[in-house]
Amino acid sequence: MNFHILTLFPDMVMQGIMTSITGRAVKEHIIEAEAVNIRDYASGKHQKTDDYPYGGGAGMLMQAQPVYDACQDVFSRIPPEHTKRVVYVTPQGLPFSQKMAEEFSGSDDLVILCGHYEGIDERVLEEVVTDYVSIGDYVLTGGELAAMVVVDAVARLVPGVLHNAESPETESFHGNLLEYPQYSRPEIWHGKRVPEVLLSGDARKIQKWRLEESVKRTRERRPDLYARYRKLEECRALLETQKRLYADMLALIDRGSAEVLIWEKERILLRDSGSGCLSYASFSLDGEEQFWEQLPEAFLAGCFRVTLHQDFSREPLQRRIPMELSRVCYHVVYTPREKIPCRGLYRTQDGSKKQLVIRERDGSGRYGVYGCLGNDNGKHDADGCLGNDNGKYGVSAGEDCLGVSGIDEDGRISEYEPLLEAEGLPAKRALWTFLINRVLEQGKRPYFQIDRNDGASLALLEEMGLYVSQTPVYQMESGE
Ligand code: SAM
Repeated sequence: MNFHILTLFPDMVMQGIMTSITGRAVKEHIIEAEAVNIRDYASGKHQKTDDYPYGGGAGMLMQAQPVYDACQDVFSRIPPEHTKRVVYVTPQGLPFSQKMAEEFSGSDDLVILCGHYEGIDERVLEEVVTDYVSIGDYVLTGGELAAMVVVDAVARLVPGVLHNAESPETESFHGNLLEYPQYSRPEIWHGKRVPEVLLSGDARKIQKWRLEESVKRTRERRPDLYARYRKLEECRALLETQKRLYADMLALIDRGSAEVLIWEKERILLRDSGSGCLSYASFSLDGEEQFWEQLPEAFLAGCFRVTLHQDFSREPLQRRIPMELSRVCYHVVYTPREKIPCRGLYRTQDGSKKQLVIRERDGSGRYGVYGCLGNDNGKHDADGCLGNDNGKYGVSAGEDCLGVSGIDEDGRISEYEPLLEAEGLPAKRALWTFLINRVLEQGKRPYFQIDRNDGASLALLEEMGLYVSQTPVYQMESGE
């Protein structure tokens, strides 16, 4: 990911970024960062960038032309296929949040514009800015500190920037909870003992204690976040009455990306804060028509997919917005915590030509070596590089890749795409076993969305110990 900070004080920004973790990430080329001096784009002997505001008033204003030229120069260096956001840091923006940081981390280039004096001429902002972001309800002298805050929070979400890839998921704000208290050596300090459970070595007890402490801390320190957490927990309790049918909605809540738009006794509407897609559960036919009729326009704006869990919701939805049925599928869920034994299903690449090997697709689109040796306890001994877990995996015999599948960030495993053999049940079983175990290693609940006409896959997964939902889900898409 590339950061471009447009500022009158490039040294200040680069000194901040080049320190500690973000500095290391730049040196290792995991992220790129440049500070562009807006003054370089000012004309005249004195390279003036500010002038008096029309209509009078205190202070000076940054002029439009140098800011515009600096932006255009940066834009011209960003490849057209890159996704970019142009952020103006200003006290008038939306409050910066972890959710916003996650959203920004999904783009290839983040351009951040720092104001100074009384700000920037409105006309250039109208032409270049996509997002107005404030780091708090106070006024700074310039945007540089705000830009550094944004770069820091976004950069640490870029894979590889933090060495322990798990930590962003357990920290404050994930799932609306603040992080639990943490302790390091010594065991007793100022007469205060580290909580006994943390020394127990019992991973489940530790996890339970941490969750309880997170909830307690959030309730005490951030009642606003706690209220959101409670709402989600109540939705979860309702959805858990049919775990298989609502596997996708539960996974969204677990991932910390679910926004509750509607939560009533009869219905739940969640929005995926990343994609903007909606998932809907209705527990009663009564009031269905009015529900869709009265749904605020803002909930539907920008949404290209709605997943319905009841057939009777389809027509009322279609009467409200033009969406077509794109897929009907069953949820298939793996409920045990234990991995599936994989002995005999697949081997490392060094095995005989007839043995199946699981490989991960590399950056060039090929399925490079991802050696996995099935052993007695069902664990995987990975001897290749891991890379991105959301990437696709292939199952091969010798040099031939037989088929591919993948995992998304919810723990959903995609359907098997055969490349060589039309059926290939052993290959499919091997790859899916591998992927189920991988999702379990990530601490998530593995599940599939299998097309209702794909009887062979449904039967295979049932045979492997998974449970199929009794009724299907309906994916509606806008077709745009
Ligand atoms: N006159 C402006 C107003 O009232 O909105 C404030 C200008 S401020 C003195 C100068 C610059 O600092 C702004 O253009 C902005 O880039 C940055 N800045 C100040 N406070 C900020 C905040 N809370 N969040 C983000 N940027 C801020």
